Amino acid sequence: MVETKKKKKAKRERKERRFSPEQTYASGAVVGVGMLGALAAGAGVWGQWISEVPHSYAPFLFGGGAIALGASLWFGDAGAVPVRVGDAGIALERGTELTRLAWCDLERVEVSGKQLLAKGKGATFSIPIAAHPKAVAWILAEGTRRVPDVMNVKRTELAALPEPKDLDGELVPLEGVQVAGKHCAATNKPIAFERDARICPNCAQVYLKDAVPKKCVTCEKDLGSSAIEL
Ligand SMILES: [Zn+2]
Repeated sequence: MVETKKKKKAKRERKERRFSPEQTYASGAVVGVGMLGALAAGAGVWGQWISEVPHSYAPFLFGGGAIALGASLWFGDAGAVPVRVGDAGIALERGTELTRLAWCDLERVEVSGKQLLAKGKGATFSIPIAAHPKAVAWILAEGTRRVPDVMNVKRTELAALPEPKDLDGELVPLEGVQVAGKHCAATNKPIAFERDARICPNCAQVYLKDAVPKKCVTCEKDLGSSAIEL
């Protein structure tokens, strides 16, 4: 029996981990306030418009309840969106929209208060550590491996973080990565079509297929034939 080797060049499938925000004490409290607010708003409506004798405090109760409800919706949403970490870099998921920061575009990653800040060309991501301990642990682990120069986080600053584990998050294929319109990092020529692009598997830097250098200009890892097609 002859073993046939697959001729087709295997595309390395690019993946990332998707992390949903974890329920934190703060967000629990916010939801609690929101529910009380909704109850107070309901009581206010009842007192004002339904019961026969209007209570003098009903308008105040209604106003306070509505404000508390609004505040809880606002703060409950802000900053607690799903985070993705993987081959392309870091992504924030806002509804159906993915905002990405590639590893090669990161300029600085640091801790500021209770947030992990990922500053890059054109965008800064602020990720609440309490809601995203696993995502932050993965950003630090992958960032240290891929682009150590931009990592400005001391392990002691995040002593409470879990160790990144293989089962963390949900492994999903990369989607919504745009390369058309970017410029080749070696020649600075624009990349018109996805098929012309080659990607550094380490830092996601983009090159024209005929201009892939031996070493990536951004992360300095060996590149050449290990550059990947999309
Ligand atoms: Zn690279």
